[in-house]
Amino acid sequence: MPITANDINRKSWLEVPKNSDFPIQNIPFGVFLTKENVVTVGTRIGDFAIDLGALQQLNYFEGIELTDDMFMQDTLNDFISDGQKTWRLVRNRIAEIFDAENPVLRDNTKHKDVVIFKMEDVEMQLPVLIGDYTDFYSSKEHATNVGKMFRDPENALLPNWLHIPVGYHGRSSTIIPSGIPVHRPLGQTLAAGETNPVFGPSKSIDFELETAFITTDVNIMGESIPVDETEQYIFGMVLLNDWSARDIQKWEYVPLGPFLAKNFATSISPWIVTMDALEPFRTAGPTQEPTPLPYLQQKGKHSFDINLEVAIQPEKAEPTIVSKSNFKYMYWTMSQQLAHHTSNGCRVNSGDMMGSGTISGPTPDSYGSMLELTWGGKNPVKLSDGTERKFINDNDTVIMKGFCQNDEVRIGFGEVSSKLLPPFVKK
Ligand code: MN
Repeated sequence: MPITANDINRKSWLEVPKNSDFPIQNIPFGVFLTKENVVTVGTRIGDFAIDLGALQQLNYFEGIELTDDMFMQDTLNDFISDGQKTWRLVRNRIAEIFDAENPVLRDNTKHKDVVIFKMEDVEMQLPVLIGDYTDFYSSKEHATNVGKMFRDPENALLPNWLHIPVGYHGRSSTIIPSGIPVHRPLGQTLAAGETNPVFGPSKSIDFELETAFITTDVNIMGESIPVDETEQYIFGMVLLNDWSARDIQKWEYVPLGPFLAKNFATSISPWIVTMDALEPFRTAGPTQEPTPLPYLQQKGKHSFDINLEVAIQPEKAEPTIVSKSNFKYMYWTMSQQLAHHTSNGCRVNSGDMMGSGTISGPTPDSYGSMLELTWGGKNPVKLSDGTERKFINDNDTVIMKGFCQNDEVRIGFGEVSSKLLPPFVKK
């Protein structure tokens, strides 16, 4: 089915500011709360939030087979479960409805009043009920940097790394949308030179610059999906900040990997940008050497050119950009991650989320965590207000942005922005 929604010549009758992440060619999906306390599935054009539930009630999706309440829900799970054909039909239809040449909704003030909201008047929610969350570790630069710092500079990558998209199972219970603050966690740590651990607030809170993809129903238990079939099961992507407590992580991670250092909070951007919208930004990833095992081999372009940046904003100061990276640096692709995930028959469902792993580029200004940017705290990062950071301070806000850009169109994610608060105190 053609993706007519991607037509670069189409303009919308809704105003789209220059350099907006959300031109009519994007049409992401999300869930928002209106001032009247109505929760609905929606999309976004420019700085307008569009109520898809209201559009459906007004019959704008006539001819597309949808359950009656498909968009009058507080999650996208049912829509995502319907599969790629439905996603394409709906995105194509939304593009038609908001096409500058189409008068049907454009000239119907009554309908517009119930369908269109200003972004500032809605509150973005978590877009999906995330059943299972897996976080990969797929940036060779990140894995090498961490290996150099914590293990052996000569053998920074562990022997399995070039053969397996390494990952771990995270917690979905603490995944939150942009804007929700995060409390500094308490935990057990072992200070340098000590033999006995202590319990208290983490002293080294870090971000991890990541993206994540959200799947539809992929397989039944026991079934493996071949790598060249996995892409059709990926609905779209978000930005992800995998908050990490490095001191807790260092003490707890042996031998089973990350646990409480990671699952106190994971922040995501609220609009899911579809793989269809990202299609023009397909690119080849790095050469994989040694050649992966046959079940992970793929030809062609399976990575995406997505510009990423991280800023730290202290309270009452301007944000400072501390890292600029790109998703295309990732060694393992999303399709390889998903093929590997199902290779043992593990079931992957609609609304599951897979984190990319920290996205570090080849140069020191493109590293995706404070751990790497400061090289373990040796080189603090200077902020524009004159202060320095080894890690994130209380009341700092971490802002991650991402967008794709070519000569014709810009497709962006908006941002995931979250403030770190002091430890939680029960009132
Ligand atoms: Mn991570």
